Order: sequence, then C-alpha cells, then structure tokens
Amino acid sequence: MTEKLSEELQARCLALEENLRDIRERIAQAAQASGRTEKDVILLAATKTVPVEVINHGIRLGIDYIGENRVQELEEKYDQLEREKCQVHFIGHLQTNKVKNLVGRVDMIQSVDSEKLAKEISRLSVQREVTTDILLEVNVGKETAKSGIMPEELEDLLGKICILPGLRIRGLMAIPPICDEKERLHNYFSLMSQYFVDIKRKKSDNVAMEYLSMGMSGDFEDAILCGANLVRVGSSLFGQRQYR
Ligand SMILES: *Cc1c(COP(=O)(O)O)cnc(C)c1O
Repeated sequence: MTEKLSEELQARCLALEENLRDIRERIAQAAQASGRTEKDVILLAATKTVPVEVINHGIRLGIDYIGENRVQELEEKYDQLEREKCQVHFIGHLQTNKVKNLVGRVDMIQSVDSEKLAKEISRLSVQREVTTDILLEVNVGKETAKSGIMPEELEDLLGKICILPGLRIRGLMAIPPICDEKERLHNYFSLMSQYFVDIKRKKSDNVAMEYLSMGMSGDFEDAILCGANLVRVGSSLFGQRQYR
C-alpha cells in the first residue's frame, strides 16, 4: 500500500503488532499445556468494526484467517481485503436470504445452525459450482436468546445435511454462556469437545470433524486447554471495538 495511513491507523497497526506477538505466545503456551503445539491451533482474527487498512496490516504480519460476522460489513470490505494469503470466514448469525452474498466468496461459514440454512448453502453452491465448507454452530449453553442448534438436535441435523451436495461439514463452533466461574466455562468447552470427538468417531460420509472453533479474547486459553483448535480473537488483537 502506497497510501499514507492516518496517525490513528498507524497507532492501531503498531498496537496490533504487539498484541499479535502476545496472543501467539499465549496460544503456544496453552497448546503445549494441552499436549499440542502452536501449529495445531488456528488463530482467526475477528475483524468486526476494524478498518480494512488495519486488517491488511495484520495479514502482512502473518494473520492467515479472518472472520467477519455481518454480511453488510463483509461486503463493504471484501474487495479491499488482501485475500491471497488469508482465509475469510463468516462467523456471525446468518439469515437465509443473505447466503447468496457468501457462497463462492468466503472460505468457510462457521455459523450454520439449521437445515434450512444448510439447504440454501447447498443449493447455491451447486448452482455456482463450488463446494462450501461449513461448521455447525452449537448452542452449548442452551440459551434461549442465542443462535446455534441445541446439542440434542445435533445428530439429527447432521444426518439430514450430510447428504446435501456442494457442502462439506468440517467441524463445530460454539459461543458458551458468559461464566463467572472457570469451572462452569470449562464444562461447556469440554462438552463441545465431547460432541466433536463422538461425531468424529462415527466417521459419517461427508462429515469431517477437523475444526473445533471456540474461545474468544477472554477465554481462548481455556478453550484450547479443553480441545479447541481454532480460536476467534477480536478485541485482544485490535483493541476495544469502536462502533460507528
Ligand atoms: C466478535 C466475535 C469474536 C471475538 O470476540 P472478542 O471477545 O472481541 O475476542 C469471536 N466470535 C464471534 C462469533 C464474534 O462475533
């Protein structure tokens, strides 16, 4: 980029460099504590509200996965993102009528939580001659106001959507309830890990349990200790979000 960045953006880029080193270090430690290495855990930068200049700086620093959680915002940034070295995931709540904006454009949709949504992704993937990688989002805390499928419905949903063409189920995603006690939080993360392992053991066709996406700024180390291999970190990398 030849364009000169404003002082504010420069400061944010500098802060990101420092934060990224720190987060990578903490990921490495948690990975080791769970019998793995840093390479076994993917760091996905959650980039909502972050200016595209700062995201691209992060990509040049080696961030190779980013996640957006609003279709509109992703649309605004998409063409400016330096995507050659970086996977773009969709991680937010998704309405069926917005699927058309994502299929063939993002590398993975992490937030699939209904048969209807999966069918629409499948339909458009076939039409556009692509395969779309998805994760199933699980409402592990069974919270009424939260998206995600209920754990007891997971198996049934898997059975229904694993036969859909143009779709590849590659793992699970979750956002557990806000917990004050670590023990409760670990219980949710461990439950997710258990579902992940159980499904993997069944070796169903078209279901590859490769990614267990859980853990954010406040709890990614806990998630890794419980088996996460993809963590989604926003504010600890980019600073507090500044909503426009
Ligand atoms: C914003 C967001 C994150 C990151 O949250 P932080 O607490 O800022 O790290 C992770 N996952 C999803 C789905 C998000 O929307």
